[in-house]
Amino acid sequence: MSTGTRERVRARVEGVVQGVGFRPFVHRLAGEHALAGWVRNDERGVLLEVEGAGEALARFLERLAHEPPPLAVVERVYAEPLRATGEHGFQILRSGRSGEPAALVSPDVAPCRDCLAELWDPRDRRHRYPFINCTNCGPRFTIVRAVPYDRPLTTMSAFEMCAACRAEYEDPASRRFHAQPNACPVCGPTVRLIARSGETIDSEDAIAAAAALLRAGQIVAVKGVGGYQLACRADEQRAVTELRRRKGREQKPFALMARDLGALGALVALTPGERELVSARERPIVLAARLPGALLAAAVAPGSPHLGVMLPSTPLHHLLLADTDTALVMSSGNLSEEPIAHRDDDALTRLGEVADALLVHDRPIHVAADDSVVRFFTVERERPLMLRRSRGYAPASIPLPLSAPPLLACGAELKNTFCLAKGSRAWVGAHVGDLKNWETLRAFRAGIAHLEALFAVEPTVLAHDLHPDYLSTSYALAREGVELVGVQHHHAHLAACLAEHGERGPAIGAIYDGAGLGTDGAIWGGELLAGDLQRVERVGHLRPVRLPGGDAAVREPWRMACSWLLAAFDGEAPLPAGIAGRVDPERWGQVAALARSGTASPITTSVGRLFDAVSALCGIGASVHEEGRAAAQLEALAAPGEQGAYPLPLVDADVLELDARETVRAIVRDLSAGVRPALASARFHNGLADGTARAVSLLAERHGVRTAVLSGGVFQNRMLLERCAEELTRAGLRVLIPRQLPPNDGGIAYGQAAVAAARLQG
Ligand code: ZN
Ligand code: ZN
Ligand code: FE
Repeated sequence: MSTGTRERVRARVEGVVQGVGFRPFVHRLAGEHALAGWVRNDERGVLLEVEGAGEALARFLERLAHEPPPLAVVERVYAEPLRATGEHGFQILRSGRSGEPAALVSPDVAPCRDCLAELWDPRDRRHRYPFINCTNCGPRFTIVRAVPYDRPLTTMSAFEMCAACRAEYEDPASRRFHAQPNACPVCGPTVRLIARSGETIDSEDAIAAAAALLRAGQIVAVKGVGGYQLACRADEQRAVTELRRRKGREQKPFALMARDLGALGALVALTPGERELVSARERPIVLAARLPGALLAAAVAPGSPHLGVMLPSTPLHHLLLADTDTALVMSSGNLSEEPIAHRDDDALTRLGEVADALLVHDRPIHVAADDSVVRFFTVERERPLMLRRSRGYAPASIPLPLSAPPLLACGAELKNTFCLAKGSRAWVGAHVGDLKNWETLRAFRAGIAHLEALFAVEPTVLAHDLHPDYLSTSYALAREGVELVGVQHHHAHLAACLAEHGERGPAIGAIYDGAGLGTDGAIWGGELLAGDLQRVERVGHLRPVRLPGGDAAVREPWRMACSWLLAAFDGEAPLPAGIAGRVDPERWGQVAALARSGTASPITTSVGRLFDAVSALCGIGASVHEEGRAAAQLEALAAPGEQGAYPLPLVDADVLELDARETVRAIVRDLSAGVRPALASARFHNGLADGTARAVSLLAERHGVRTAVLSGGVFQNRMLLERCAEELTRAGLRVLIPRQLPPNDGGIAYGQAAVAAARLQG
């Protein structure tokens, strides 16, 4: 055949194109269009050359970009013409290794339909094999040590494939062609049940044996894809209470796992959007409305109208849930405030005290990734809001609306994540946790080292919070040879929301959270900011009050009630009815004196702390173990449908002030007149939403801006967010709320990255 009528093209494909069946897809596509050539993986993604009739080439390139396999994300295709060589046949070549790695690693993916069918098929050689996977599903991020994504660079390197697995692995027509974690009962990882002493519990089927323990009411630690989880029957009060006691977690609701949508349907009422997301391959925990008749132990989620529910995320979970045949509490394998355990030795030491037995296996987890959490909101339409972005989502890249030098943003303190960026891409790592102890700091450092290696980013710039005491800040300051960019906390919140929507501003942001250091040294947390990615101006805030005893006020919400009462009633704060009986009058008096004098009582504009104050007035928890818990309980208490709203006047001086003293007086008046706390809570939410919307509208007009941003941890509150967004939309503003990243401090790092990039650019 003459080569004169033939054309040849070299194409480079970038994006998530490794470990997702991309090369067999190219092979098949080339076959369908009768093209010769080759394809291979390299550090930047996939490189290929194809040769054949011009028309066929054009059609091939179009399908290459638009019909990729399920897990692939094609970001870019660069094609260049070459001289035809007369090559025949099509080959998949070995990976090339030169230059720097930039291929994107996929997040971990729940088992696909085909793998599940084999898992339950008694005739299949992988019947009940807990590590079944293929190019369309299975572990990725948590087992990859480096790129290119090839078996020797994953935690599967120790397992030599048997002949049958090897044949699949090498067959381009197989669903397991180059599926790096490919394994079977003959050659792959195995699962064991061990006692807390570390000794193996003898059983023919470790998963069935673990299920038997769970059915009998015991606590079992389960090695999941991104770390250990602690499981027990969700319908047995004694087991759940015991798990709470051993974990040292007294209040926070536990997440639940059920075997399928049918079983979930007995616990929660799922909307169509929730149903879709809970079954999605990312398998997040979805917060959904609890059914009144749900057969659950009271200790699972005391007082919460919502339950965090999920479906099995690995074959092992599918088997365990099927064998147990009851919904399980599935909680992160850690003690309160520690990162999730993911190494086996560590799990035994740390979880041996909590669990009666551990269901373990010998496929190492290279990096931890806790379960992700999502909650749905209706802002115009039903949509998910990320509360914790981790397993299933990390490390998918999130674009930046501008180009960044190689940089690392270190995040804040609570719910820490970090973010790497380079060019127009940013990668936010898995949830690290509250960066307050050595364990978490170690996880933070390890996570950064891993991601830097994976995406070949050597940061020349480090972005950090302004708070000098955050471990994330000290980490940034200690790294040598880099340029430092300090980013104010609430500016980072605003920038994160703008940037993930592909925007640079300007906008007016209402940024409400627990705490963040302000540029004036005060503790901010009820901020109205005007500006863009590069800089903001503080144009309004909540009226400041004292934080009596500093951090102690975060753990004891009643202290904030005391502080707000002093502010609202001219320095008078008699112990209110909702708090009397739970707080010693003498301590109340001492705290009042502390707030009056200002000793050890910094100034704060935090809306999170205002929520604490109102919670305490409404008779909720005298002390909490976790920042924001009282606010969550106050939202849960609020009477749905109540339209009344407490006043929240705007005082217009240099900057706008939301004067919540009036709000507090109205609450006290209502409660002492016998109004139910549920109504008071709803009226508080409504008043705050209305006042915020009025303030933002006013400022938008003053600054000639049409875009509003609502973010900060307080906006995880559905009642507040929905009403506030609705009012702003009605006022003609375009409302942006975070979507891919949490409104809480889990989104801070990405915002810091956007601000640093903008400052360095402009
Ligand atoms: Zn599969
Ligand atoms: Zn095998
Ligand atoms: Fe914050």
